[in-house]
Amino acid sequence: MPYSTVIGLEIHCQLATKTKMFCGCKIEVNTEPNKNVCPGCLGFPGTLPSPNKEALNLAIKLGLALNCEIENRALWTRKGYFYPDLPNGYQITQIGTIPAFDHPICKKGYLEIILEDGTKKKIGIHHIHMEEDAGKLVHDFSPDSSHFDANRCGTPLCEIVTQPDMRNPEEAVLVLQKIKQILEYTGASNANMENGNLRCDGNISIRKGEDAPFGTRVEIKNLNSFSYLQKALEAEIALQSVMLDSGREIEQCTKRFDANHNKTITIRRKEDAHDYKYFPEPDLLRLYVEQSHIDSIKQNMPELPDARRLRFESDFGLSQYDAQVLTSDKEVSDWFDTASKTCKNPKILANWVTSELMRELKETEGGICALKFKPEDLAQMVNLIENSTISGKIGKTVFAEMLSTGKDPDTIIKEKGLVQITDTSAIEAIVRNVIEANQSQWQEFKGGKAQLRGFFVGQIMKNSGGKANPGMVNRLLDEIK
Ligand code: ADP
Ligand code: MG
Ligand code: ZN
Repeated sequence: MPYSTVIGLEIHCQLATKTKMFCGCKIEVNTEPNKNVCPGCLGFPGTLPSPNKEALNLAIKLGLALNCEIENRALWTRKGYFYPDLPNGYQITQIGTIPAFDHPICKKGYLEIILEDGTKKKIGIHHIHMEEDAGKLVHDFSPDSSHFDANRCGTPLCEIVTQPDMRNPEEAVLVLQKIKQILEYTGASNANMENGNLRCDGNISIRKGEDAPFGTRVEIKNLNSFSYLQKALEAEIALQSVMLDSGREIEQCTKRFDANHNKTITIRRKEDAHDYKYFPEPDLLRLYVEQSHIDSIKQNMPELPDARRLRFESDFGLSQYDAQVLTSDKEVSDWFDTASKTCKNPKILANWVTSELMRELKETEGGICALKFKPEDLAQMVNLIENSTISGKIGKTVFAEMLSTGKDPDTIIKEKGLVQITDTSAIEAIVRNVIEANQSQWQEFKGGKAQLRGFFVGQIMKNSGGKANPGMVNRLLDEIK
């Protein structure tokens, strides 16, 4: 039988600081193993942690962007567990499961997603806490041993824990996309899923109907792409449905997703909170954040994705869908925003960006920042179409040339002689030549066969090298007829 699904996400993101959470080691991507380490992040005896203020500021920024209440007081908690890539044998975090140890920096927020039919849905954020990352074991370095890279030890993380408010895998993907977008807009994280800056655990349960009590949840760890999140949740729904159908019980457990076989695999049964031996971190004071500090971060918040989408809708007359496409990637949206400032018709510009340009970007490495031409160049090209200097069709030729050479549209048009012919007598000469060469069709056209208009316009455009103004061609055809 079909079941109703309940999903909640736990999303880890690496905060975009220059240095680690509790020591001064640099944070770098793809660097030589064990380069950025010190006695502190290697867990040597006698070292003491010192919190990174920039990490705290980014966490507050993220919390504000997710409509959270920012706490003036947080507590560092020590969560003990053994893991070969955790030199300290514990992780410093802000949650501790029992109320006395449970003081994350941000609580009770929400975000909004737009469903496929255009309606909006609010998803609750339970809390956001700060913590430090572990190191990394490298298994593919040699066939018979595992290696340890401590560069990632002590990297500042935020964990965003949502309410169990999603009802299908598509909604879960929309939530992860929205969080990635907010991380990019706030600059709180580079949110690069390939580099592991953003990782998602999916919690999922099923139940008999929308009003039935929640079922037992299973947690699927480390889903590091949108499609893995979707597929893992789908696989788990299918599995749990079969189990309930055959009268078996779901056991709370932690799983991983095997993408090759498209199935979820149990890695451990749910551990209890006391297994982690939580207690307040003795080496750190409580964290007090002055309200004035939170307020100053609030006053300097950048424009967030929802606000920008609404601005694009109202300022440029774009549909919600187009505005959403244009704001989903921050770099594309910044690029369009710059271009729109010098463009006479931002709505047409938006069409070029969402169609021609985005199609091109799918094949360009490095994204929009790797384009050879500037946003102002595309704006100028649209202006030239708007003022009839070139036709829309020639626009495509100019655009292709901008892409390959990076030259500006005025230069390209001059060099290639692409200026639209708007001189009536010049166009009329071409029109008459085409009529001359196609007498029988011309007689039929005159006799009322209106479909032949397309044929004549086509021939004339071709003869003019695409440069005749189509409006004038049509007018002349009517006049001569
Ligand atoms: P823990 O602290 O043990 O990980 P939480 O209660 O904090 O457990 O929940 C962790 C995540 O699981 C949250 O994202 C929450 O939304 C989600 N969740 C909780 N209950 C369910 C459920 N019955 N089905 C699906 N997801 C759930
Ligand atoms: Mg959890
Ligand atoms: Zn260090």
